[in-house]
Parts: sequence; structure tokens; C-alpha cells
Amino acid sequence: MEERWLVGVDIGGTTIKLAFVTEDGEVVTKWEIPTDKCENGHRIPTDIAISIDQKLLELNSPKEKLLALGVGAPGPVNFTDGSIEVAVNLGWEHFPLKALLEKETALPVVVDNDANLAALGEMWKGAGAGANDMIFVTLGTGVGGGIISNGKIVHGLNGAGGEIGHITSKIKDGASCNCGKKGCLETIASATGIVRLALEEVSTTAEPTRLRDVFEQTQSLTAKDILDLAKEEDGAAKKVIDEVALYLGLALANLANGLNPEKIVIGGGVSKAGDAILAPIKEYFVSFAFPKVSEGIEITIATLGNDAGVIGAAWLAKTSVTANTGVTTNTV
Ligand SMILES: [Zn+2]
Repeated sequence: MEERWLVGVDIGGTTIKLAFVTEDGEVVTKWEIPTDKCENGHRIPTDIAISIDQKLLELNSPKEKLLALGVGAPGPVNFTDGSIEVAVNLGWEHFPLKALLEKETALPVVVDNDANLAALGEMWKGAGAGANDMIFVTLGTGVGGGIISNGKIVHGLNGAGGEIGHITSKIKDGASCNCGKKGCLETIASATGIVRLALEEVSTTAEPTRLRDVFEQTQSLTAKDILDLAKEEDGAAKKVIDEVALYLGLALANLANGLNPEKIVIGGGVSKAGDAILAPIKEYFVSFAFPKVSEGIEITIATLGNDAGVIGAAWLAKTSVTANTGVTTNTV
């Protein structure tokens, strides 16, 4: 049979990433369009459909080439009807994403949240390759996550499974989180959390630190400044990264004790620091995890970068089509 393609779509606040992906997970082509937030983001499904048709035309390929579409959005998904309950930065509220995209593209559509799709992408083609039991955590502006158990994303009762960023880490005097709680992992291990810890450290320590020099020169600090200075053995920067690694190691070890995963994959902008963040996380992980859970586990940095979402979306499209038609799916 002639090769068919899956469409992977990852909707973000500024750009929408799209890709045609083969059933084996190879990216045929990928592109981006700007996210049109006019009219509370209501034009987005039409924009996606038009862009797909244009790309098919460019590639001189018929619409029949496309099998199904997987799409990720930044917000809680209602899995009964594929709507997005709320996506503040797109202007969506109870937005029927699946229904609208199916109407506009005439393809079967499956929806999940962006962090879950990134987890599936890493499982299929990235650092998690082949792992049936995997924890994925992404350290960016916030902390997102996806948990894969027996090859499937854990959604749970309300679709809120895998919200690793909102594990309560500081039970006393924690910083306020966007979710309404205090002391969430996100308030510590996100880029924003790292900067907050560093500013606290600069204002309390009497020791000389280059963190303070950078801050005084530029009146700002970024997570990258802090990670770079930690690599250069700056005492205060190292102390901050050590605290971040402590809470990440603790949260991941506690999760792992419940799941006994094969792999833990760490993605997002902060993970670009590589070993500077990975090595201390591993050390704390081992000290907090049940010994049998640490045995053979691989804790590693994500490899797909910004492509993880579209590849995971394609995986979801592929598995939902095969599940609906009863055709046996080939393995990862
Ligand atoms: Zn929270």
C-alpha cells in the first residue's frame, strides 16, 4: 500500500507547529504558522486546515494521502468531546477543538494537551525510545509533564494526570503558584522559579557572587545565566541549582516509587544545561527512591526539542486510527 501520512499539530501562544509524519514516525515536512488570537482564537482551526491544504498543494500530494490528525493545545482537555476547557493565552473557553478541526479538515482528529504529546513524541522517536513506562517532565516557563504507563498516557478522572508541575514540594512557606496552591514544583524548577530562587539568594547572601554582578549590571537574571554560572562553579548559582535538583529529584523519586518506570526524560529550555542539571537530579533521585526503583532506570535529557509535540501528535493520531479500525498497530 502506498505510504500514508499523519498530521501532527502543536498549538502554542505565538506559533502553531505542523508536520506530516509517516506511520514509522519520520517527519516528511514540518512548518509553522503564526497563532491568530483575534476573535478569541476562533480562526485557529480554519488557519490550520488552510495551511494543510496549501502544504499538500506544494508537495503535489492528494488529500487522500492524509490518514488522521493529532493536535496538542496548552490547556486542560475534556476527553469526552475533545474540547479545550480553557486556554488563557489563546482566548479559548470550552472551545470545541476536535469538532471544529474535523469539520474544517475532514480528517479524524484526536486532541491531547501539549505536555502529554511531547511525552508521547519522546517515547516514540526521542530519548524514551521504546519505553512503555516513562515519566516525562518539561522545565520551561512552567513545569509540565506526561506519564506513560503500559504505553499509554495517564489522563485520570479529570484529564489532569501527569501534572507534575503541581506536586507540592515545599509544604511550608512555599511561593504562590498559578494553580492557586503554594509551594508547587513549578514555583521552584521552572525557569521563573530558578530566577526567583537566585534573586532571593542574591539578596540574602553576604558572599561575593557573580550572580549579583550580573544582576547589578543588567537589572535582570535569566535561568540560563544561573545555569551557566553554576557550571563555572559560582557558589550562589550552584546553591540555587542544587536546591532545584533536590526538589526535582524528590518529586521524581516519589512518582517513580508509584510507577517503577524504565525511563525519566527531562525536556524544556532548562534541560539544555545538560549534565549541570542532570547529574545533581540523579544523585538526589537515587537517595530518595526505593532501591529497587532506582535499579536500571535511565534518567536522561529529551532529544526531540521543539519537534516532540508534533511527533507525539502524529503518534496519537496513528494509534487512534488503528484503535478505531481494529487494524493491528506496529510496535514503537
Ligand atoms: Zn501549582
